[in-house]
Amino acid sequence: MTVDPTAGGEANRPASGANVRAVFELRNVTVAYDEVPAIERVSLRIEEGEKVVLIGPSGAGKSTLLRHLYELSGEQGALIHQDYSLIPQLSVFHNVYAGRLDQHTAWRNFRTLLRPDLRDMHTVQPILEALDLQDKTHERVQALSGGQQQRVAVGRAVYRDGQILLGDEPVSAIDPHQAGRVLELIKGSAATVVLAMHDVQLALEHFSRVVALRDGQITFDLPAAQVDRNMLSHLYRAEG
Ligand code: ADP
Repeated sequence: MTVDPTAGGEANRPASGANVRAVFELRNVTVAYDEVPAIERVSLRIEEGEKVVLIGPSGAGKSTLLRHLYELSGEQGALIHQDYSLIPQLSVFHNVYAGRLDQHTAWRNFRTLLRPDLRDMHTVQPILEALDLQDKTHERVQALSGGQQQRVAVGRAVYRDGQILLGDEPVSAIDPHQAGRVLELIKGSAATVVLAMHDVQLALEHFSRVVALRDGQITFDLPAAQVDRNMLSHLYRAEG
């Protein structure tokens, strides 16, 4: 399989001239677990303002690549974890508020745990409304359905209000009729967005740049409009 990390991406870049800043510039990056590479010699440039989706079969290296990008993104980054990483005993409000814990003093955070500040409530509420969770503000996360919990995880990352939003299958448990809306919310919440998605149809509908991974390598990097059925069936072909 040819690895061409840059092919095709150009057409999708924001038309803001030649000096667009690279948010990520990976050159031949390998990440291994117990010396077994999960991604190998991956080169990838993502510019400020791009909305990118990672696709590919299970085990391709999408989560590993996302985690690597998250490590690189520093305090500007938010990650929607595949397993949500919520605190089940705390309310929806408090889980969303956790997206900005590091922006406040320990005292303010402690006080918020006992009695949320009205200002914070007012900032969180529109996000909960956009996620159709406005009636769940004070419910413990453990009492919610899987799809509702995933929306809380999205809300926390959106509330963080950083420049870079990364998501590992962030709508996998959300009803199909809601998933598109949630994806649009995610895309509108940060300048640069990179998501891994398993629903290819949904991915192509909502993202202009598609980076396909298989066996730890980028197999194509194309505008969504150029991705055809043959490429997808080759990407998802059974081993053998
Ligand atoms: P994807 O997100 O595309 O399913 P992953 O990045 O989760 O792919 O996995 C890529 C490869 O790395 C797989 O072979 C997987 O088994 C392995 N892997 C992922 N995470 C770990 C880990 N924490 N420890 C050991 N191996 C891992």
